[in-house]
Amino acid sequence: MLLNKEITEQLTEITAKDRVLLNEPLKAHTTFRVGGPADVFITVKSIKEATETVRLLLAHGLPYKVIGNGSNILAADSGYRGCIVCIGMDHINVSGTSVTAGAGAMLSKTAYLAYENSLSGMEFASGIPGSVGGAMVMNAGAYGGEMKDITSYVTLLDTESFGIVKLASGMMDFGYRTSIVRKRPYIVLEAEFELDRGDKADIKGRMDELSQKRREKQPLEYPSAGSTFKRPEGYFAGKLIEDAGLKGFSVGGAKVSEKHSGFVINTGDATAADIIAVIRTVREKVHECSGVMLEPEVVMIGDIEP
Ligand SMILES: Cc1cc2nc3c(=O)[nH]c(=O)nc-3n(C[C@H](O)[C@H](O)[C@H](O)COP(=O)(O)OP(=O)(O)OC[C@H]3O[C@@H](n4cnc5c(N)ncnc54)[C@H](O)[C@@H]3O)c2cc1C
Repeated sequence: MLLNKEITEQLTEITAKDRVLLNEPLKAHTTFRVGGPADVFITVKSIKEATETVRLLLAHGLPYKVIGNGSNILAADSGYRGCIVCIGMDHINVSGTSVTAGAGAMLSKTAYLAYENSLSGMEFASGIPGSVGGAMVMNAGAYGGEMKDITSYVTLLDTESFGIVKLASGMMDFGYRTSIVRKRPYIVLEAEFELDRGDKADIKGRMDELSQKRREKQPLEYPSAGSTFKRPEGYFAGKLIEDAGLKGFSVGGAKVSEKHSGFVINTGDATAADIIAVIRTVREKVHECSGVMLEPEVVMIGDIEP
């Protein structure tokens, strides 16, 4: 490992002793509940901490990856050789019809605060188990809404110039499960949402309705990373998988959910290798049956490939 004691101590000085964890299992930080140890796992709680941490890692040529809530990540069984930087700025402020949230704030909490302030527009995101930062990277969306619809500004750290960049939504290059952050060396620090005044009971009603739909349709009782594959244009991944006869298909502890074929779930003791084996078979068989090659939506960390 390239990270020596001296660098680890410097990381502790930038953040705090209890926020620099060595050989930290990634299964504790991903909703799939798989993943071996990261050499270092550090949680940053301010823009200054994020900037100084990344600056130090880059100065020493150390590999790093940023994560939010780990709800769209498949981490290798061998873990990650380098430093995982978890974004922990979780402030949420409401001012008039605008809501500003740190990249580490949970979407669910942000949407709930919007509701408490009678602000409508974020209901669709209330059941997505990610952070605001992860949602900006992925342009997370559900039930007809997408983050790009409500985002006004995003504050980013440019890890090349170490400048702070504030981009209007139109400059974010938002697309289906993607944004500029996937193409440029940016780290999301904060996002600002512009919402509409609404009726509190209606907002709550919509949130409850969507939450009920999720519980009925999605295997929330098992660890997963949500939809494993992107929706191919003109198709539904779940339907293609079902048509290929793969509903319930399993390898070790990883299984194509019987409740929603678009989800690969961890039935208890899955390894990343099990999950990858399921993903590979699904891609092959669906391609054979329909000619469509499914692309994983989940982001892989460590020595792992679909
Ligand atoms: C049960 C379940 C249901 C789900 N339902 C939906 C859904 O309806 N719609 C949907 O779109 N998604 C859904 N997801 C997937 C996931 O919640 C979203 O993709 C979410 O936006 C990921 O956020 P995160 O904070 O967990 O990001 P992570 O999984 O931690 O990271 C995802 C990617 O973003 C990067 N990243 C994270 N934070 C930052 C940051 N601050 N700066 C730079 N890069 C960063 C990571 O490097 C990684 O590439 C679901 C997942 C689960 C488990």
